[in-house]
Amino acid sequence: MADNRVVQGRMVTPGKLAEIVEGESVMDAEAIEDAEEDCPDCGGNVLEVGYMPSVTEFVTGRKCQDCDWSETDRD
Ligand SMILES: [Zn+2]
Repeated sequence: MADNRVVQGRMVTPGKLAEIVEGESVMDAEAIEDAEEDCPDCGGNVLEVGYMPSVTEFVTGRKCQDCDWSETDRD
C-alpha cells in the first residue's frame, strides 16, 4: 500500500506500526499520519496511527520514526 512508512530504517504497514506500538498484533489499523509533534526523546518525526486492539477498543498510537519512543492515548 502507498501509505507504508519507514520507521527506524524499515518499511512498515499501518498494521505493523500499530503492532509495534501495542506490543502485540492488532485487529485493524487506519492509515498512518504525521503527528503534529516532535519526539520528546530525539526530536525526530512522530507518526500517528489509529487502531483497534480488540472489537471494543479504539486507540491512537504515536511512534517516533527514528528511535524506540512510542505512546498511546491510554497513557
Ligand atoms: Zn525519537
